[in-house]
Amino acid sequence: MPAELLELRDVGKRYANGTVALEHLSAKVGEHEFVSFLGPSGCGKSTALKMIAGLAPISSGEIRWSTVAGRDPASDTSFVFQEPTLMPWASVFDNVWLPLRLKGVSRADARADVAAALATVGLDQFAEVYPRELSGGMKMRVSIARAMVTRPRLLLMDEPFAALDEITRFKLNNDTLDLWQASRFTTLFVTHSVYEAVYLSTRIVVMAARPGRVVAEIAVDEPYPRSEAFRTSARYNALCVEVSGALQAAGATHG
Ligand code: ADP
Repeated sequence: MPAELLELRDVGKRYANGTVALEHLSAKVGEHEFVSFLGPSGCGKSTALKMIAGLAPISSGEIRWSTVAGRDPASDTSFVFQEPTLMPWASVFDNVWLPLRLKGVSRADARADVAAALATVGLDQFAEVYPRELSGGMKMRVSIARAMVTRPRLLLMDEPFAALDEITRFKLNNDTLDLWQASRFTTLFVTHSVYEAVYLSTRIVVMAARPGRVVAEIAVDEPYPRSEAFRTSARYNALCVEVSGALQAAGATHG
């Protein structure tokens, strides 16, 4: 296990309306891991991510961060949502500038960092374009560039590719892995796709619903870069069967 970045200790979440979204969630995430939270709709994956981001208070348990001198984990975290959530009235450049702007960085001072972030997602030629002129996949790239512009230590991704067609999704899977390998941030990725979780992750936290909880943790001990050869390999297939089995076992006992 790499040096620890954060640990969820017996975390629970009960919403104001009484819904128990999560119960006894314990998991550790190491530096530069790519961990997926995998489970059916309603098992608390988004809730877990929101609590890690500090966007939702936890009801019980605790989230512990490793302390790295001079770095505040909250300001070191970026979030990519399922919807790209771009400002339609602002150019691609201005959308990516936003997190820096909120930190008080002027447009001129942000120029190099915004250009670099756009280059990492292959959109350096699109800085002056408006969101309506972009495809769904390109909008998601802008959203990823906006998350990368602050050079986060932790990237939280909540079903970022669920609304995209399969070819675009595969391409963005590869691009995400390239970015992750190049920049060495830690990724926490939420998905309900077994295939996507196995393709991307170093480790999969399998969850079940009602109440939301962890039912298995499966390491995907395969080297990177991963490629189409991995996607069609017997090993990939065997891992998908194993992960599906863990999901089904949980569903069968608490359906
Ligand atoms: P997932 O991301 O796995 O689909 P969520 O974290 O969105 O799961 O939701 C987990 C449970 O909490 C679900 O039963 C959902 O309806 C409920 N829930 C999510 N957000 C709220 C909220 N703001 N208020 C009340 N219940 C919520």
